[in-house]
Amino acid sequence: MRLVFLGPPGAGKGTIAAKAKEVFSIPHISTGDLFRENIRKETELGLRVKSILASGDLVPDEVTIAMVDQRLREDDAIKGFILDGFPRTIAQADALADMSGLDRVVNFVLDKEAIVRRLSGRRVCKSTGRTYHILYNPPKVDGIDDETGEPLIQRDDDKEEAIRNRLDVYEASTAPLIAYYREKGLLVDIDASPSPDEVLKALVEALG
Ligand code: AMP
Repeated sequence: MRLVFLGPPGAGKGTIAAKAKEVFSIPHISTGDLFRENIRKETELGLRVKSILASGDLVPDEVTIAMVDQRLREDDAIKGFILDGFPRTIAQADALADMSGLDRVVNFVLDKEAIVRRLSGRRVCKSTGRTYHILYNPPKVDGIDDETGEPLIQRDDDKEEAIRNRLDVYEASTAPLIAYYREKGLLVDIDASPSPDEVLKALVEALG
């Protein structure tokens, strides 16, 4: 199954993808995670994109497209994939069409107030990328990762000013992809407001 997860930041794409990859036995490919891994390892790519991620702007298309093209050539992506956070522009969607066919594009629908609530309460474990929410999905011990025991942090781009910028970027550059994929007959809308397990159930049913 070749899937794209589309939707605003904070809609839960990453959380659901982490569960759905087990259900469908396909890799979860998150461009945000790939960039963050490069930043952590201080690679050339990481140094180049660090300030872009912190501001909430988009990394240039050619850089992002080259990274995804390389990732999709790896063996585990042959049987399918969940692309989370890619494509985010029409140019990226056109490039993806040249790289691979798609079975479905899942559009996670969530209103703006809920998005801001989710993003501002999100906390992550820096080394594993595991995410929590201070209200909806808290760790067992306040501020500490359940498995590694490391302190949880707030992503730079989950701070208020960057959140506002990310939502503006989403509206301007990424939301047009909803019509783009609807016209191709690939789009499935999923209500992203219930709990992750309920959203997962709705997703599995929708995908048959
Ligand atoms: P995410 O974890 O999906 O919210 O992505 C975090 C950040 O990584 C975004 O705010 C962008 O700066 C960058 N990024 C992730 N995916 C893309 C993409 N497809 N195109 C451009 N920038 C991206």
